[in-house]
Amino acid sequence: MKTLELRGGTKMPALGLGTWKSEPEEVYSAVRAALELGYRHIDCAAIYQNEEDVGRALNDAFTAGDAKREEVWVTSKLWNDSHAPEQVRPALETSLRKLGLDYLDLYLIHWPVALRHGVALPTGPEDFIPLSEVPLESTWAFMLEVSGQGLAKSVGVSNFSEGMIERVSEATGRAPEANQVELHPYLQQDALVAACKRLGVVVTAYSPLGSPDSAAMMGRRDEVPLLANPTISSIAEAHGATTGQVLIAWAIARGTSVIPKSVNPARIAENFAAADLTLSAGDMAAIAALDQHRRMVDGSFWFLGETYSPETLWDD
Ligand code: NDP
Repeated sequence: MKTLELRGGTKMPALGLGTWKSEPEEVYSAVRAALELGYRHIDCAAIYQNEEDVGRALNDAFTAGDAKREEVWVTSKLWNDSHAPEQVRPALETSLRKLGLDYLDLYLIHWPVALRHGVALPTGPEDFIPLSEVPLESTWAFMLEVSGQGLAKSVGVSNFSEGMIERVSEATGRAPEANQVELHPYLQQDALVAACKRLGVVVTAYSPLGSPDSAAMMGRRDEVPLLANPTISSIAEAHGATTGQVLIAWAIARGTSVIPKSVNPARIAENFAAADLTLSAGDMAAIAALDQHRRMVDGSFWFLGETYSPETLWDD
């Protein structure tokens, strides 16, 4: 498996398993199946509310000899209600306890959005805290501190724009090691990917298949689902591959890591095999032409009231 080297020298496997929306009872078998197949990268988050089940699967796999702890890259994320400096370490410790691990490979600030402590998802404007009260720079400084304490080998951010990365880097003298953002052919974000490369920030592509199972939750109508796009379909046909495999191979070919989510054993295997698919320059050019700057996870859940807006959240 190809790996991406972070600035601190750790090596992230390019292909991992996503776990958002994976029900607790499904995620255990998904993670066990993935590790048996050879996946060595699992993407988690406190807000996915399934870390205990992921942790059980990891530890059972270690006991069964399917993989060793040091071979598996585990990422988790600081939820928005724990951005205050004194909340960062306890939040990380809670994730570690649930996952049954004594360190994470990567810990990310999940969103550049702050919520009142104890709020999982906001229901009104009063649930938000402006970044002027809990600056990203101070949250980032405490992420660096917990990393220094050995609780996370690497630390980074998610859903950060170039400007946000530059701000926290300038304030602390240390840039995030990774940025996890939405990337797929309908949302290619070339400028952000290039900026991260320039700043030495490894990029992970989330929702690489177009996140079909979040459409209802996000109030989205996917007229031409990415997995059914005719260009992707014809490339898939030419390679004797599936559209999902083309989307995953595209992400890896761009130099990003990629974390497709599945709880279906056949699709978990199908997605893993995509690491062996090589796209041609012509395939890459045809996919480049599909960009629509279209977000599947558009952050609209953060825009209740006036504290956060698309302009403050995204560089768009
Ligand atoms: P994906 O783009 O990975 O799509 C997941 C959906 O595709 C599920 O419905 C899954 O169904 C289906 N699927 C999986 N493989 C295939 C296949 N080969 N063919 C057809 N359908 C398939 O969406 P996500 O939004 O879940 O993104 C992936 C991961 O990225 C998340 O799970 C999470 O870990 C991370 N993420 C991070 C975010 C952040 O803010 N940092 C935001 C969003 C995602 P089934 O399970 O039934 O196979």
